[in-house]
Amino acid sequence: MLRIGCHLSSSKGFLAMSQTAESIGAATFQFFTRNPRGGAAKDWLQEDVDAMKEHFGTAGIASPLAHAPYTLNACAKEERTRAFALETLADDLRRLEMIPGVMYNFHPGSHVGQGAEEGIRLIADALNRTLWEGMHTVVLLETMAGKGTEVGRSFEELRAVIDRVELSDRVGICLDTCHVWDGGYDIAGDLERVLEEFEQVLGLSRLRAVHLNDSMNPCGARKDRHQKIGQGCIGMEAFRGIVTHPKLRELPFYLETPNELDGYQAEIQLLRAMADG
Ligand code: FE
Ligand code: FE
Ligand code: ZN
Repeated sequence: MLRIGCHLSSSKGFLAMSQTAESIGAATFQFFTRNPRGGAAKDWLQEDVDAMKEHFGTAGIASPLAHAPYTLNACAKEERTRAFALETLADDLRRLEMIPGVMYNFHPGSHVGQGAEEGIRLIADALNRTLWEGMHTVVLLETMAGKGTEVGRSFEELRAVIDRVELSDRVGICLDTCHVWDGGYDIAGDLERVLEEFEQVLGLSRLRAVHLNDSMNPCGARKDRHQKIGQGCIGMEAFRGIVTHPKLRELPFYLETPNELDGYQAEIQLLRAMADG
């Protein structure tokens, strides 16, 4: 069965997220480790995490995906912003050891005029300073739309980051359908070719998660505006191709579409029906 869920609010804690996921028919979910636009994280209660773990078993939920805050920019120009990125990465990764089977997704960053090469160097440097031997969490670089000076629009840039990371066996990729589409990869017209390119440049074994979002803009627009599944430029048939593809269908899928819970529930049902039909 398709392992699909959506982004959920973490404001009521871990058990509440797992219960919400179950209530909308999700088999996984994504959450922010802290305020996406702020800084400090609330304390995580061991008893709440334990209750969530127990609920996972009864509800058939697995592969929770933690998302780093948007303000984390490991390749910022300002020293202060880079220091915040390092602190946040280190703190998030330390906390996430509480949650078995969790993966951690972050936006590689924006080089703000320093150039992609310097951006790549700084991102890898941040990972080399914060990953450790024996850590459990797999860290995912998210494919980006290429808005502004974002690093990670192309598979080659992501590969260049991974090549510089010492503990690269702890690093994978989260493919965001809206982002790769906006970045110029035609997943609607030729999914097969995009996956071949992914295989050649990064290796499909690196692909660990998929963000499912339609896009408000045409392929290559580099805008990053998410749309509901089937209501954007990527279109319903492309999503059918993605959730049924033999190389993708075993991965966990996370919706980040502009929806409330009832909208997510409907999209989960729709995509499940496509995957099973
Ligand atoms: Fe993201
Ligand atoms: Fe995403
Ligand atoms: Zn996005």
